[in-house]
Amino acid sequence: MAGRAVLVTGASRGIGRAVARAFAKGGDRVAVHHRDSAELAEALRAELPGDGHVVVRADLADPEAVRAMVDEAARRLGGIDVLVNNAGVYGPRDLPHPVFGNTYDQWQEQWRLVLETNLTGAANVTWCAAQHMRERGGRIVNVSSRGAFRGEPEQPAYGASKAGLNALGQSLALALAPYGIAVATVAPGFVATDMTTTHLSGERGAAIRAQSPFNRVARPEEIAAAVHWLASPEAEWASGTIVDLNGASYLRT
Ligand code: NAD
Repeated sequence: MAGRAVLVTGASRGIGRAVARAFAKGGDRVAVHHRDSAELAEALRAELPGDGHVVVRADLADPEAVRAMVDEAARRLGGIDVLVNNAGVYGPRDLPHPVFGNTYDQWQEQWRLVLETNLTGAANVTWCAAQHMRERGGRIVNVSSRGAFRGEPEQPAYGASKAGLNALGQSLALALAPYGIAVATVAPGFVATDMTTTHLSGERGAAIRAQSPFNRVARPEEIAAAVHWLASPEAEWASGTIVDLNGASYLRT
């Protein structure tokens, strides 16, 4: 079969969709993972250039569904060479305050939702996919966030989950290198996707765009290009890195 076998989680929209397109354009075969967006996922699969792309489904908060999904992707693609842990959830926004505007039950519910998807979900997908890379090597790229190192005051669980993902990636870069598996991370700032629509409107959106001297936020394709390179055969030496994609935003503050 031509090209590499690539599993992209949360691929039906946003950054994941751009990542799936980048790999397909490069001649790879993609497993388009989604949770509850079968139509979008199928439409993407059908429009991807090249043959052999498949759609797979799982709620990443369900460890057994994750294992079945990864094994199905490997069976239908003929293995897994590349995993992109892209799926993620931000959690409720626009609470008056993340601590004092939440009951203890709500706090715990949000913590569980965000950590179970962004960190435990990614860890479980990784364990399952690594089984398929053990004999042939591979690439794992995690989609983290600038919230991991710059703080996420509106949704602390999100910042914590992404900091955990950074640390997971670094630990696994060490543990998996002897098997020819490289693990790298991208940490974007604001990207124009469904996740940030409310953030990016009105005055608040203008203030966010002004954080970068380019006076804009990232396009999903710009994140996908970095992910694609980090997953390339040439990028083994980038294993363990966290690539900060922020349009020079921090240089002004
Ligand atoms: P998005 O909301 O468009 O995409 C997230 C995808 O993850 C969706 O397809 C969603 O269905 C999937 N997902 C969420 N929870 C899931 C679960 N439990 N099981 C399976 N799938 C699940 O947002 P996006 O901006 O494209 O985000 C992609 C990744 O990029 C996320 O990890 C996000 O945290 C990260 N990120 C986004 C931004 C940004 O500004 N948009 C910035 C930094 C990092």
